[in-house]
Amino acid sequence: MKNTILRIKYVWLLMLLLMFIADLAKAQDYIKVTPEKGEGAFALLRRYNLDPTDYFEAFIELNKNKLGEDLSLKTGQTYLLPVKAESTSSPDNETGVFPIFGKDYEKIEFKDNSLQGAIFYIISGHGGPDPGAIGKKSGHTLCEDEYAYDIALRLARNLLEHNATVYLITRDPNDGIRDERYLKCDKDENCWGDKNIPINQTRRLRQRVDAINAISKKYESSYQRSVELHVDSRYEKQNVDIFFYYHPNSKKGKALNETLYKTIREKYKEVQPNRGYKGSVSARNLYMIRHANPVSSYIELGNINHERDQRRLLEVDNRQAIANWLTLGLIIDYENSRK
Ligand SMILES: [Zn+2]
Repeated sequence: MKNTILRIKYVWLLMLLLMFIADLAKAQDYIKVTPEKGEGAFALLRRYNLDPTDYFEAFIELNKNKLGEDLSLKTGQTYLLPVKAESTSSPDNETGVFPIFGKDYEKIEFKDNSLQGAIFYIISGHGGPDPGAIGKKSGHTLCEDEYAYDIALRLARNLLEHNATVYLITRDPNDGIRDERYLKCDKDENCWGDKNIPINQTRRLRQRVDAINAISKKYESSYQRSVELHVDSRYEKQNVDIFFYYHPNSKKGKALNETLYKTIREKYKEVQPNRGYKGSVSARNLYMIRHANPVSSYIELGNINHERDQRRLLEVDNRQAIANWLTLGLIIDYENSRK
């Protein structure tokens, strides 16, 4: 009897704790912003890439105690914005602000519409409690998940510049793009929807797949591609630069990965003609490729424990170059899909 009462008490406590955590997660769905002088609610929403048609009501609801007469904004006052996707909901914008890229990179100037209508899911491998492969260099610890995330952010930002809609599935709200050689290891990445990342591998991968597949339903007739980035050490002994993997039964997946591979090979030829580039494209039955609905590319960018690959990862310019070349490849794949 006593045991049962204790157990009930325990369950109650657990429920309260879960409710508390759920509340915290909800609070993180918003970012705090201050309006520029004379800026109204519509302009503020647009500056953060939120279409007023969809977000004005939510904005009023969130900020009802902070608005002046006629719903005007007060200078110096902080407002909450319901920021969700890295997407530009109004294609006429010339600039946008995306806080996920960090203070130095959050402002984006749109270059062209070459990826307008394309939907991308960018997944950096591991994250949260799992740092992935760990390398050492000059007394520093290199965590795979941090380097994969930095390149993922650079890639996502590039895609946005061409007016794509981008969903960053692995997210770290306080790590923007970092122009540093040594990226600090942390464990506060989350999964799309502010979900804590589980330590168990199967649950972690299922969480990502569920997030992607839930969003992808909205875009059923659109061009959708998912790109997952890793820097594992598994292939230490092989002298191969970048591995691309696609679903064994996906023709589009094969085409996507071959295009990415060729683009990178051409670029290496251009910038390092004597280097020789050994990449590989192959079919592989990986969980993420098998279960995610969009056409997928799973990329191993190198080995975080390998001297030569470390150079590719530690140099900021090299991380940016990889992101730029993948972007080029994705633009070509999108063009091909419309032929
Ligand atoms: Zn990995």
